[in-house]
Amino acid sequence: MSERITIVGAGLVGSLLGTVLAKRGYSVRIFERRPDMRTSTGYAGRSINLAMSDRGLRALETAGLADDIRAIAIPMHGRMMHDKQGVQTYQPYGKEGQFINSVSRGDLNKVLMTAAERHGVEIIFNARCTDINVESASATFELPTGEVILSEADVLFGADGAFSAVRSNLQVRDRFNYSQHYIDHGYKELHIPADDAGGFRLEKNVLHIWPRRSFMMIGLPNPDGSFTLTLFFAHNGSPSFEELTTREAVMEFFNEQFPNAVPMMPTLLDDFFTNPESSLVTVRCSPWVFNGKVALIGDAAHAIVPFYGQGMNCGFEDCNVLIECLEHHHGNWDQTLETYARLRKPAGDAIADLALENFIEMRDKVADARFLWRKKIEAWIHEQYPAKLIPLYTMVTFSAHIPYNEALRIGREQDVLMEEIMSIPSVINDWTSDEARQAIRDIMESRADIAIASGSPS
Ligand SMILES: Cc1cc2nc3c(=O)[nH]c(=O)nc-3n(C[C@H](O)[C@H](O)[C@H](O)COP(=O)(O)OP(=O)(O)OC[C@H]3O[C@@H](n4cnc5c(N)ncnc54)[C@H](O)[C@@H]3O)c2cc1C
Repeated sequence: MSERITIVGAGLVGSLLGTVLAKRGYSVRIFERRPDMRTSTGYAGRSINLAMSDRGLRALETAGLADDIRAIAIPMHGRMMHDKQGVQTYQPYGKEGQFINSVSRGDLNKVLMTAAERHGVEIIFNARCTDINVESASATFELPTGEVILSEADVLFGADGAFSAVRSNLQVRDRFNYSQHYIDHGYKELHIPADDAGGFRLEKNVLHIWPRRSFMMIGLPNPDGSFTLTLFFAHNGSPSFEELTTREAVMEFFNEQFPNAVPMMPTLLDDFFTNPESSLVTVRCSPWVFNGKVALIGDAAHAIVPFYGQGMNCGFEDCNVLIECLEHHHGNWDQTLETYARLRKPAGDAIADLALENFIEMRDKVADARFLWRKKIEAWIHEQYPAKLIPLYTMVTFSAHIPYNEALRIGREQDVLMEEIMSIPSVINDWTSDEARQAIRDIMESRADIAIASGSPS
């Protein structure tokens, strides 16, 4: 096999894509704007840890890397909600044995880069893409010395993230659709260090949430006993980041909203005033593929807000589906890229919508008794009738075969069903009573099994 592939961006998706293509015999070069994070100091990246779920793991399995990543991951079996009094309420994510994983972004990226190189990928660092040629699948890169490299290839992938240079080049072309939408909330990362013995100050194997209706803070565990906290908060208005300009205002706000977290955050004020206030954007565009030679993948094709913990998972799934398409079309790139875009664009749009909706669920609904009650009923129905109802969170997070767009469609239908069930008087009285359970069974037994359209090319 002689085909040459250029990938722009050695982030999470570009590095994984390089690995899976090189494993199939392609000659791959990746150009990365930043220095090599494995040898340069001080690299932290955009968020320190990420939640990885089944879709991401499945793609890593294809690359033969799932065990390497499991070894550096911390399982999180559910959400732990903290109210203002410090009372903690636990809600499992799924069935016994279903969990998501907290993984360090930097460590993951390093493992992926090293794996890519092990399979023969050449990564050129400090090389910023400045131009592409759609007709010839070539790209131009500038080095810090001013030197310019022209990379010629048979296929060019833009895996260069939410502010993709490859996509910017496509945007000036006829009939390229593009939208970017910033939400009113931004985020700031904060920190709970390990205790003096190096242990976790909070329950380790859960994702912590301090839901406060219009905003929230979350915490994910790190292998060194610390937690990375992220405050998702409005940029402007009241309450908002713009109001918290003094040390006194920050302390007053945290003592009022997160009193049980404050004693565990000795560097709160320094972190608050040192760490950036970052924005959250959704990017949608089409087409993802040009001339059967140039394609967008990962955040370059679909940047989404982080509230479903699926941005990277979706990008990894893009790589998996691409490989399935390549196998299905016996290496014909034109057909492969066309099928890839046909399957993945609706999936990208769906997870973008789901991610925006899940912000409301996380910051507001998880503190709502009716919502938690509905979740329990849903989980019980799923246990009794696994082919007829699958909770939306389970479809998105613990399924690697239900396309996001199918999960969204089925989730909408199940919303209607659950509202019907929750309005039955015996269910309102006591959903665990024989009468309520019989009423639920009557409804469920009259329903057909869920039919799911495939997200694979065959
Ligand atoms: C706060 C936050 C929390 C998140 N949490 C999760 C989570 O829990 N789970 C999850 O699945 N996802 C999460 N995400 C989303 C996840 O970070 C992204 O989906 C993922 O990083 C996308 O990977 P990527 O490789 O497409 O892009 P990136 O990770 O952005 O990588 C792009 C790479 O391209 C390089 N590059 C950019 N421009 C150029 C250029 N001109 N030339 C050469 N190289 C270039 C960049 O330096 C970078 O290395 C989160 C995102 C945020 C912001």
